[in-house]
This record gives sequence, C-alpha cells and structure tokens, in this order.
Amino acid sequence: MRSRTLLTILLAIAMASCGKHEPKAKYVFYFIGDGMGVSHVTLAKLYADSVLHDSTAMSFTRFPVTSLSTTYAHNRYVTCSAAAGTALSTGTKTSINTIGLTYDRTDTLYSIAKKFKEAGKKVAILTSVSIDHATPAAFYAHVGSRGSYYDIAKQLLKSNYDFFASGGFLEPYGTKTDSNAVSVYELGKVRGYQFTSSLTEVDSLVAAGAKSIVYSAPNPAPSSTLQYEIDRSESDVSLADITRKAIEVVDNPNGFFIMVEGGKIDWAAHDNDAATVIHEVLAFARAIDVALEFYRKHPHETLIVVTADHETGGLSIGNRENKYDFHVKLLHYQTASKERLHKVIAELREQNPKAKFDDLLKFLADKTGLSKDIELNENNIKMLKDAYNVAFKGLKSNEKTTYSETDPISKVSIQILNSKAAVGWTSGSHTGQPVPVFAIGSGQQLFVPLLDNTDIPKNIARAAGL
Ligand SMILES: [Zn+2]
Repeated sequence: MRSRTLLTILLAIAMASCGKHEPKAKYVFYFIGDGMGVSHVTLAKLYADSVLHDSTAMSFTRFPVTSLSTTYAHNRYVTCSAAAGTALSTGTKTSINTIGLTYDRTDTLYSIAKKFKEAGKKVAILTSVSIDHATPAAFYAHVGSRGSYYDIAKQLLKSNYDFFASGGFLEPYGTKTDSNAVSVYELGKVRGYQFTSSLTEVDSLVAAGAKSIVYSAPNPAPSSTLQYEIDRSESDVSLADITRKAIEVVDNPNGFFIMVEGGKIDWAAHDNDAATVIHEVLAFARAIDVALEFYRKHPHETLIVVTADHETGGLSIGNRENKYDFHVKLLHYQTASKERLHKVIAELREQNPKAKFDDLLKFLADKTGLSKDIELNENNIKMLKDAYNVAFKGLKSNEKTTYSETDPISKVSIQILNSKAAVGWTSGSHTGQPVPVFAIGSGQQLFVPLLDNTDIPKNIARAAGL
C-alpha cells in the first residue's frame, strides 16, 4: 500500500515537472504538399542525389520524426483537397468538396489557424496556387462547395489573419452570373485589408502598420498560380520567397502560425508529369529550408510539420516497360512543364502551320531530349507521328482537364519520357495511399506512430499549448 502511494506521488511529480519543462511551440510552420505521396518525395530525393548531386536538398527528409498518415474522407476513401484540407486544418473529417463545415454541412468547423489568432499570435497563409483554392481556404473559410471561389475570398476578408500570399484570386470580381458583385479588393479596402503584388511594398505596408496584407504574385501562371518551378524565371516569385517574406511579416514575441501549401505538386501529378513534380517538390523543400533557418535560431520554441493532403497519380518508382531498371536521370532533359510545352507547341503551330514532323522532332529534342539524347523506338515514333497529325492537321481538338490544357504532342512526349525513365502512373486523379509526415522541433514526438490526418492539427495545437 505504502509503495503504491509512493509510486503515485513520484508519478505526479514526474508529470508535473514534465508539464513545466516541456517547451511550447511558439512558432509553428505547417507545410502541406498537395498530392505529395511517399513516391513524390522519394523521386525528388533520388533526383537531388543522383542528378543534382546536392546532398543539402530535401533536408526535410532528414527530420528526426518521420511517420505516415491516413487521408480518407468522411464519405469516400480516396479524398479530395477540400475534405483533406478540412481534416488537416480542423481535426474533423468532412465530406468531399466541403470546406470548414461538418460532413452534412450543418455545422461550422474551425481551423487551428483561428485558434492561434485568438491566442494573440500572428497568422500567415501561403500557397503556390490561388489563395481561394481548397487547401488554403480550409484555414479560413466555411463553404459547402470548394468551387465557390468568390464566397471563399469574401470569407478571407473576415479572418483578420495577418498575411496571405499566393498567385492571386480566381473570382475576385464575383461569379460570372452575378454582375452586381462588389470586388474582393473593394470589400477588403473597407475592412482595412491591403492588396499588393510587390514584396518590397509588403515591407512598407508593415512599416506603416497595415493589419492584413494580401500579396498576389505579379506574373501569375494560368489559374492565378505561381509559375511551375521548372518554368520559373529569375524574376518570378518562388514559394521560398513568400515563406521568407511571411516570417518577416509575422515574426513577433507572441509567436506565429504559418501554413505553406505546395499546391502544384498535385497539379503536375494530375498531369502525370514527373519532371515537373520533381521540381515542385524541390521548390517546396527550399521553402521548408527557409523555416529551418528560423528553427535553428529558435530550436526550443519552433515546430515544423511537413505532410500532404493525399497522394496524386499513383506514382511509382519503376514500371512495366523497364522491369527492375530505373532511369531518373533522363528526366533532367525536360526543361519545361507539360503545360508550358503545350503553349509553346501552340505558338509553333501558329508561326509555322506547315511544320514538318522532323521540325517537331528537333523542337522536342530541345525541350525533352527525345530523339536526341533519348533514343526513340518505332512505337514511340508512331505515337508522336499520330500526335503530330492530330495537332498539325487538325484531326481532333485539344484535350482540356481541370488542371491544364494539353495538346496531344506534349501529352505523348511526356508519356514517352516518363515511361523511358521508368516512372509509372496508375491514375490521373488522387489515390488512397497514406502520405508521409515529417516533424522537427518542439512537440515533434507527438507525430508518431501512424497518424490519421485529423490527429495532425490536434497535435500541433497541443504542441503549442492551445
Ligand atoms: Zn488534386
């Protein structure tokens, strides 16, 4: 009896001292790679190691905590970014296409970003796609349909978060059917929101005491997104650039919460475009490196969590054609995304509608290595010739998907290149595979073992003492 009492006392002391000394995560970074499965991370790491020979790249894969998370939605095993985003932001599963509401859309779910804001911390929401897209929206909006972009944007203006950065808005002037809509910019001005497309201007707005700043990249890619990393020029803004700026804006003694979405990993994976996926993951990793620089200055008060909302494409390392061989190096011949390739081919067609098949091959050699550095077999040439006949002789119109518009030539070229590199795709949509979780910093031990996506925001809040 006496020993049991002693044990109880000792346990109580241990627990009390644990609580007292466990440092709280005052600064939280939440990185969400949209569509980033284990294979996407592995492929980018293989590329960094064997093609770039850069041992410092993909540093998040060396975080002390590595785990997996399930992603299923309330009403479907293979989830979407709206349901998964809501799970990752609120800790509750919801139905497909729903953002920030319960599965039956009758009740509101609140994100941890709001919790951080209410606790007196500053909040920044960043993405490489548009700010009204599903993942960022899950941190401030409540809508029954993820496509209600104007509604979502209006709700952004009620969040009072400190900083937003993205490629812009999809429907800033209202939906097509609503001609009387007041623009998001007008509505925002009334609420004290400041809009800018200049990172330098962000500094002066902060200096002038601006409350909520909404930054949109000045040279957005289609659908108000940042340029694909593989297409990005020196002057285009990167995810790392906006992450660095966000830290400058929200760093303060009370702490902050920064969510960064690598949104176009998913888009490139929907396009089954492996080289573009690799460059998107590498760009995402460089944004994480910016957070790591901050972590190194405040290691006891910072938590960085990296995860994904779902896997996209059913990406595999190895394919049927190559059996056990893998040739990731071939992907470095690709110098433009499939989306950009499509655009350039359309221009080529306009300038030279009578271009010969050989002219096309020369062009492809330059952009993808096909026919020059990478040998084409008879079947490859037949596929490309068919695509050429369709594109240049108008046999069939272009194919348009939600994520990009691709002509048959860019589609077939990337398909051949991926197949030669031994990268396999089982889907043009999402899959139900678990996604990776990486954590470093205060509270990192909360992110093991196998998690469900709803555990992640709850654990982040716990680590922050909220
Ligand atoms: Zn997707």
